Formats: sequence, structure tokens, C-alpha cells
Amino acid sequence: MTQTSTEAHEIRGACPHDCPDTCALITHVEGGVAVAVRGNPDHPRTDGVLCTKVSRYAERTYHAERVLTPLKRVGAKGSGEFTPVSWDEAMSDIAARLGRIAERDPEAILPYSYAGTMGLVQGEGMAARFFNALGASQLDRTICASAGAEALTQTLGGKFGMRVQHFAESKLILIWGSNAIGSSIHFWRVAQEAKRRGARLVCIDPRRSETADKCHEHIALRPGTDAALALAIMHELIVHDWLDHDYIARHTLGWDALRERALQWPPARAAEVCGIPVEQIERLACDYGIAQPAAIRLNYGMQRVRGGGNAVRAIACLPALIGAWRHRAGGLLLSASSTFPVQRHALARPDLLGNRRPRTLNMSTIGGDLLRPSSPDFGPRVDALIVYNSNPVAVAPQSSSVVQGFAREDLFTVVLEHFMTDTADLADYVLPATTQLEHWDVHMSYGHTDVVLNRPAIAPVGQARTNTDFFRDLAQRMGLKDPCLQDSDEVLCRTAFGDAVDFSTLLDQGFASLSVPDAPFAEGGFPTPSGRCEFFSQRLVDQGQDGLPDHLPNFEPAHTHPDYPLAMISPPSRHFLNSTFVNVKSLRDMEGAPWLEMHPSDAAARGLADEDGVVVFNDRGRYECQVKVSTRARPGVVNGMGIWWRKLGANGTNVNEVTSQRLTDMGRAPVFYDCWVQVSAATR
Ligand code: SF4
Repeated sequence: MTQTSTEAHEIRGACPHDCPDTCALITHVEGGVAVAVRGNPDHPRTDGVLCTKVSRYAERTYHAERVLTPLKRVGAKGSGEFTPVSWDEAMSDIAARLGRIAERDPEAILPYSYAGTMGLVQGEGMAARFFNALGASQLDRTICASAGAEALTQTLGGKFGMRVQHFAESKLILIWGSNAIGSSIHFWRVAQEAKRRGARLVCIDPRRSETADKCHEHIALRPGTDAALALAIMHELIVHDWLDHDYIARHTLGWDALRERALQWPPARAAEVCGIPVEQIERLACDYGIAQPAAIRLNYGMQRVRGGGNAVRAIACLPALIGAWRHRAGGLLLSASSTFPVQRHALARPDLLGNRRPRTLNMSTIGGDLLRPSSPDFGPRVDALIVYNSNPVAVAPQSSSVVQGFAREDLFTVVLEHFMTDTADLADYVLPATTQLEHWDVHMSYGHTDVVLNRPAIAPVGQARTNTDFFRDLAQRMGLKDPCLQDSDEVLCRTAFGDAVDFSTLLDQGFASLSVPDAPFAEGGFPTPSGRCEFFSQRLVDQGQDGLPDHLPNFEPAHTHPDYPLAMISPPSRHFLNSTFVNVKSLRDMEGAPWLEMHPSDAAARGLADEDGVVVFNDRGRYECQVKVSTRARPGVVNGMGIWWRKLGANGTNVNEVTSQRLTDMGRAPVFYDCWVQVSAATR
């Protein structure tokens, strides 16, 4: 069956969203219309189950507000005045305008994209080839995971970890910095299985999340103090000798130095820093030292602070200390994406750059960078942006500068989108993009080790085109001649893994499992320079950093600024996925309103009652929302649930009005959860 067939049929696909679970989908199609999307029961990691959000994927695909024709801006930037134009008219104008900029300096053109789709083809496949051939500026894609990724690389040698299914056999699971019920429902199902078999579940998170409610224990530490907690656990492992000396001797590097560092962190010191009882740290360390196999499911929330890289490094050292890696149900999982044999060179074709070495701009500082003039240090001012798979005006930190940058009348902005997002509102052209039901793609995962293929289930809706089509067409119109710029999507799907994954298996069953060992580091063999788990990293020293993990205090902890005494974190709302799905009414209705969770003591001190309208502010900006007085927030910390579209939020604002463009210790990532604020009633 193909997407043009009129008979009822089913098509196998992959969930495109930024979620570790990478579900295999089945789309039921009748008369050329996708009537339902469900989980593929044959894919063990999906097990026939999708989250609430993606169960509504058909609703999103046929959403009444979907952009179905190319739109050209006719009013002032941000006025919302667009007129429909033909693809040909749009493309010839875009090609001509980009061509003039490229003639002056191709580095004045910047791509901006992230994980709006995680697909290797509609993501950085043809797009990367196009920008390489053009010699445009490169984008450092840091906005979510780069601090943790860098930390794992420096410690374990890459993004490697446990296989998610083996958590079912763990005796202790630390769910660290993750609301798995909201953001990794399939891992949560495995953790539930472990719980039924007697495992103890501990949630470590400043917020008492829905996951914390269901664990045996919740450790509500202060934001940005995870490294201190990990070092105190090490302290206890050392003083009580809950160590696997043989594993440490044979498979780690830097033990003596780490031991000395950890001994500086008795539980009493960490308790003071983390704001938790000393007994809780002692009990956690005891559990971790004694229960085998012990597993850690780490997620990205805790690395969104100044010391995020160090925190991940400290936690990533723990499994080697107790020899947890010996067991398939022991160790750690943050991301296993380095396991995938992605043929990135063949996909992105960096050779198309020739001898050119364009600058790289950090996506997390896009606000500031759009406002920078040309200079020898910076290079040319950014004159054109092509945005795909991302909604930076809603999701990038410090919105005031992001909006100001995107609102520049002299900035030429093209946005490939499904909807009129906050970013599309500020574009010169908005071009209708296909959804996952309408195009080919192939996916790796950061939460399991299966490749999942996505076939188009329906024909493109309206005049939507694939991202790849856009870049193929643009390349042709701009005179970029390399034949690889015209490769089809099916060719790109086959290129993504080359011979390393059997494409016929993908075609036949929709997914293919990688052959990976059950316990990847049971006998060491870490892919670091030393071949060991590197407690000490010479590579970090060479970069001017501490070679050992340490606790770095937040830039903006609670109670350190006289005017902004509260610390704010901005975890994802359960019914949205980053900023995706905010415009799906049924999900938005479930979410209700943009919420700020605040502890009753902090609310009382400000005279605030549940559901009061409030203003959250600091010297970067202010946003409006409703307060939820709740012990889900710890005293001194507020939880600004994200990420609402600004125009659907209160008074055209969202949580990123107050976040900063400062960067983490490793990976140049944003520090969304390192943000001081004050809160007052909206009427004041
Ligand atoms: S968002 Fe995650 S849980 Fe939901 S369908 Fe996609 S991969 Fe599965």
C-alpha cells in the first residue's frame, strides 16, 4: 500500500518527537485520510502504547489552523499580515534574496533547527548538504542536551548506557532529573515492572513531579546541586567501603584523585548545599552501595544549570565505583545515541564545504547574536535565517532579545512550519511543511537501541512540502550543482545507516534492532582515550577545566539576589513536548493555563492564593501566568511549567522571558533552570 491508495490500510512509521522513547507508529488510513495513529504492538519498546500527545497526531495533522500554502509577509514584521503565494513565486524570491546575500558573504546566512523532528532525513540530511554547499554559517545545536552529552563523552567515551529493558531487573532505580511519567512513559512502564518485582524507586528532582509521587522516595534537592549529592554518595561509598575495588582498579582512571575530592564531601556538607536532610543522603548512599544491580536513569533537566556538565560527570562516575556495569540491570542511561552507526558524513556531506571553514553560532544565544553587528570577532551580521524543525521565539532563552532579533526589518527569515508559531509570526516567508504522516524518514533513538523507519501514510496535506524538497529546490535555483543535492528521501533513508543496518528489515517490520551487548561495560572497554571510565579527564584539563567532577554553584541560586529571591526551574508541562502540541486544543485544555507552582510558604509570604494571576520577573523580563500553590514546589524554588507559545500564554509572554543566555560549564548549553526571579500578584 502507498499513501495514494484509497483502500483502508495501515502504514508503519516512527514518532518524530524529541523524546527518548522513539515509538514505532501504525497509522490507519481510510480513503487517503489518516484516521488513527497508534503504537506498533510488534515493536517491543513501544509495545502498542503511545503517549497522550502523539495519540492525537491525526488531530494535529488535520488541524484547522495548519499552514497549507506558502505565505509571504505583506505587513510590518510581527503584524501577522501575510498573503498566500505560489511555491514558485516564493521560491524564486527566496533564492534571489539569499543569492544576493550569499554573493556578499554566505556566512551571513544561518540555519536554525533542532528536534521538531528527530528524523535524520527531514532534520540534518538535505538541509546540512545545502548549507555546506552554500558555505553558510554553521549552527551549534546546544539547546537541550549538549552539556550532558559532553560530560558522558568525557567520562564514558560517548553517549552510551544501559539498555532500557534491563531496568526491569534492577533492584534500585534512581530516577534523576526526570519526570518519566511525562517525558518517557515507556521507561516508566519498565520501572513499574521493576517495582512489581521488588525494586526500590527513588526520584531525585527539585520538583515533586508525578513520577516522584509514585516512587518510594523523593529527594527534593535544590536546583543545580546534583554534583554535591553525587560526591556525598561517593563519600559514603568510600567510608563504608561499598566499593568494587577490582572494577575500579581494572576499568577506571583517576581513582586516587576522585577519592580525595569525594572525601571533601561528607553528607553534612552536601545536605547544607542541597537543602535536604543528612539522613536522606546517608540512606541513599547505603541503598546505592548495597543494592545490586543498581541503575540510574538520568535525564536532561538536571544539566540545565551552570555546573550541568560537572553534575552529569559526577553521577556518571557512580556506577563504576560499585561495579554496577558488571550487570545488565546496573549502570546508567542518559542517552545511548552513540550506539547508532549513523553515517553522518554521508548524510551531511561536510566535504561540500571544500576549503571553507565558516563560523559556528550557538543556537542558545540566538537572541544576542541576531542583534550583533558585523565585526572582525563575530564576522558578518546575520542577514538571513532559515528556520526548520524549531520555534526559537518560544523556546530560546531570554525572549526579549530573541523577539527583538527576529523583529529586525532587515533580517530575511524563512520558516518551514506546520503552524503559525511565534517564530512564523516574525517571518518573511512561511512555507507549509509536511508532518511525519506525509514523508519518509528514519530515526535513531536516545532511549533505546532500535532504528525506526517512517513511511509516508498520506499524501501531503494542502501544498505542504518536505523539508528536503525545499532544500533540493532551493539548491537548484541557487545554482548549487552537486548531484547529492538532488538525492531523493528514500536514498537519504538508505544513506543514514548505510550497510550497518539492514534496510529490508526496516521496510519489512518498520524497525531494526542493533546488535549491542547486554552489559556494555561489564569488562570495561570504555571508548575513552584510556579505555577506562575516566574519573579524571586530561581532555578537560587541556580545555582549562577541572579534570575531576566537582560541584559548581548556580549562577543564580535562591536567596542570593536582594530583589529576586526565588530560584525558578521550567520543566515541561505534561501535555506538551517542548513547544509542540501547545496549539492542539484538547491538550491545551488538559493543561489549562500557564502555571507557576509555588510552595505554600512562599505564596503566603506574598499574599498569593491558588490560581491568582501573577507576574514572574527579573532584570531580563517578566511573564504572566497563574500560580498553583502546591508542595510540588520546594520552598524558595518555583516551577514555571513550559513551554507555552507566547501568543497562547498570558498577555503574549512565556517562561523564557526571564531565562538567561548564560551557558553551562561544558557543551555551551543554556541554563534554563538556573534563573532567579521574584513573583508578585498580576494586579499590582
Ligand atoms: S512522544 Fe515519546 S512516548 Fe510519545 S509517542 Fe513519541 S516517542 Fe512515544
